[in-house]
Amino acid sequence: MNIPSKVKIGGKIFDVGLANLTSVNGDKIYGGQSAVFRHWIKIQCDVPESQREETFLHEIIELIGDMNDLKLNHTQISTLSNCLYQVICDNKNIFEGER
Ligand SMILES: [Zn+2]
Repeated sequence: MNIPSKVKIGGKIFDVGLANLTSVNGDKIYGGQSAVFRHWIKIQCDVPESQREETFLHEIIELIGDMNDLKLNHTQISTLSNCLYQVICDNKNIFEGER
């Protein structure tokens, strides 16, 4: 997967960046952060590539939930992003071709 520098979600463009994310008390954040109204996604850079990719999906699902008032809890978001990531990895080329 190529994590892009921008991603369009629900017609809105979000900036995507890798960063060394820490919490307010300085602990490393292993996942990511996103801001639905400020239109950005940040992903922890200091983790394996597969974890960055799964986090990218996780943040997209989180934003889709917020933008559409889905009221997904965090377990549901994590399960969806993990399972979707597996499907995408286990089925190479499923999104290739003309659209
Ligand atoms: Zn989350």
